[in-house]
Amino acid sequence: MTRLAAADRVAATVRADIRALNAYPVPPALAGGIKLDAMECPYELPESVRDEIARAVRDTALNRYPAGDTQALAHDVRHAFDIPAESSLLFGNGSDELIHLIVQACCEPGDIVLSPWPSFVYFDMAARFDHARFVGVPLTADLQCDLPAMLQAIDQHRPKVIFLALPNNPTGGLWPDEAVRAIIDAAPGLVVLDEAYQPFADHTWMSRLPALPQAVILRTVSKIGLAGLRFGYLAGHADWIAQFDKVRPPYNLNVLTQAALRAVLRHKAVLDGQAAQLCVDRALLAAALADLPGVTVYPSAGNFVLARFSGELDGNAVHLALKTRKILVKNFSSAHPLLANCLRISIGTPAENTALLSTLQDILCSY
Ligand code: PMP
Repeated sequence: MTRLAAADRVAATVRADIRALNAYPVPPALAGGIKLDAMECPYELPESVRDEIARAVRDTALNRYPAGDTQALAHDVRHAFDIPAESSLLFGNGSDELIHLIVQACCEPGDIVLSPWPSFVYFDMAARFDHARFVGVPLTADLQCDLPAMLQAIDQHRPKVIFLALPNNPTGGLWPDEAVRAIIDAAPGLVVLDEAYQPFADHTWMSRLPALPQAVILRTVSKIGLAGLRFGYLAGHADWIAQFDKVRPPYNLNVLTQAALRAVLRHKAVLDGQAAQLCVDRALLAAALADLPGVTVYPSAGNFVLARFSGELDGNAVHLALKTRKILVKNFSSAHPLLANCLRISIGTPAENTALLSTLQDILCSY
């Protein structure tokens, strides 16, 4: 088949809205550089834990499909992450997958998925893929949740699903309990409390979940050192979980992920220690960034900070200058008007943070 014939066939076959989309951007590895663009944990696991993972993987049969019964894994996850006994669990190949399952199960074509905006871009993408319509309710100018605007939008659009990232990505803000509670009370459908960055926030809704029949809590292990494993979980009332389980691909959680996760969770204290270190380093990095000329840093409860560059160089120029010097951060300069000239910087090791700061100092002070 010629290339032209394929292009014509694609144009006639693939949905127009999918053809118009850009794929979720995953940059190539930056050999020898400093990677601060994806909220990964900068620390590798200790040798002893890696040995235990190796043994667990070695003893895992690859010739069989993953077992239908995930009770042992559920036991370990409940214990490690303090899931209330009353709440049921659903596991996903990353929490991305669970976002899809929720929208697929809840939304008829054209139904509304709503979130404060800007927030995690995949809320919007998953809604579109699954034929729902996405409504983003703009944050305030200082990047906080606009509660009156949220309540007005909920009243107007009657969303099937509301996603609240707590803390929010990419801004780092943690919406106050009173605002979240008001949104939950006003919601006509389901509210998903996405606690992807909870380990860095010292705050959770998890213990209150059994009293919130209209909410579920989404979590991931990606930010606490296990992004490569692809494991997320959803906690909520058994009635919600039973429905979402029906649209789950039967073998979505592979046996190696399950084996490795169970081995790592025996050493949860290691993950907690790394998260605590990142919180200490977040405060140091935020303060040092705020001291640079023309830089505004927004308060963050995640393992990243959002910084706005309003000096001689705009966000795009600073991003490019960092990239040229092999430091990768995420550029939101052109993503949304509220994020003009903003870069999101993941917290790295102390050495990486120091290198970032001195490089930024050079870049900003040479103009
Ligand atoms: N929720 C939020 C708010 C996120 O920022 C991310 C990752 N960027 C995810 C969910 C997805 O995480 P994962 O698929 O790695 O579990």
